[in-house]
Amino acid sequence: MSYHPGRHFLQIPGPSNTPLPVLAAIAKPTIDHRGPEFGKLGREVLAGIRTIFKTEKPVVIYPASGTGAWEAALLNTLSPGDRVIMFETGWFSTLWSRMASKLGIEAEVIPGDWRHGVDAGAIGALLAEDKEKRIKAVCVVHNETSTGVASGIPAVRRAIDAAGHPALLIVDTISSLGSIDYRHDEWGVDVTVGGSQKGLMLPPGLSFNAVSDKARAAAKTAKLPRSFFDWEEMFAINDKGFFPYTPSTNLLQGLKVAIDMLHEEGLDNVFARHDRAAEATRRCVRHWGLEIQCADPAEYSSVLTAIRLPEGHSADALRAEILERSNMSLGNGLGPLADKAFRIGHLGDFHDLMVTGVLTGVEMGLRARGIPHRAGGVAAAMDYLGGNRGAMAAAAE
Ligand SMILES: *Cc1c(COP(=O)(O)O)cnc(C)c1O
Repeated sequence: MSYHPGRHFLQIPGPSNTPLPVLAAIAKPTIDHRGPEFGKLGREVLAGIRTIFKTEKPVVIYPASGTGAWEAALLNTLSPGDRVIMFETGWFSTLWSRMASKLGIEAEVIPGDWRHGVDAGAIGALLAEDKEKRIKAVCVVHNETSTGVASGIPAVRRAIDAAGHPALLIVDTISSLGSIDYRHDEWGVDVTVGGSQKGLMLPPGLSFNAVSDKARAAAKTAKLPRSFFDWEEMFAINDKGFFPYTPSTNLLQGLKVAIDMLHEEGLDNVFARHDRAAEATRRCVRHWGLEIQCADPAEYSSVLTAIRLPEGHSADALRAEILERSNMSLGNGLGPLADKAFRIGHLGDFHDLMVTGVLTGVEMGLRARGIPHRAGGVAAAMDYLGGNRGAMAAAAE
């Protein structure tokens, strides 16, 4: 590939674009992770990250991708042979359930169609049948990054409570944290799993477990073997701002700035900005006449939109065309959606002009590949973002 002038558009649904102040913080010299300067940084990020999870409880930070924090959540709370309920929302929930099986956990996966979110009623029904309380946890993905479907977590909590079941609630927020409203304490979640490279606007390499008192108590008797991921090793030294092994010092420098930036904008404003980018994208896609993978408007993800191509057209060829033509990376279709769908990430450090730029690149790609669509989708997005009330009313009719 020859040199591409202009800035690369990284529009996969994570890793997202890292803002310059975060990159600058990461580029600062590495400091002594046992020294006083680090202790202060450690205390700041360990306190700061709680405000993003909306929890008063401790948050463990691992030098690992999100997959590591998935594993940590299971290892710290479960014993070999324990039963858990998982819900097949898409590729990421499937990977997580495979991991559970590899770890010796009996994962009962409720099948899904990859177009809808978690069915809390189906979870509640399984829990109600479990008279002996053998099910130890319910594990769900908040924002399924393979499909662009966001599930309601409070409904899952209510289903567990309505069944009077003691199972832990474990939630993957790797692609929603910092982009879609999330409340670890208020929603009664026991372990929340997060990652650095999506809504938190950092490069990959950090991941998180927010831990409720109930989860911490479960860890006392959980027998899956763990060492690197052991929460108690972290808790023992995190109070002073330190870690049991060398943390990702420079990424933590970036995390401090990213947390400050999220609060400077205001979390509610951040969420509203994501909602807006997502709505503009969907208006554009509908104008093109292409199909959105998420089947229920109540479950649309504000982080990404997965778009299906008409039969006989290759989503991978479209993405390759757009990369070559416009220097923009889009997400591929995962699992059964491979080559059938592509994903537009609209998350993290992102504004209106980037939304229209991204959509313009996609529309040019559709034209170049001869994929049937109604031209002018970007104008529909502009009408929405620019607040053209007349056009919006017409579109609603
Ligand atoms: C990205 C992602 C993961 C995997 O995280 P890695 O950082 O790639 O290990 C897991 N779950 C969801 C929902 C994700 O979006």
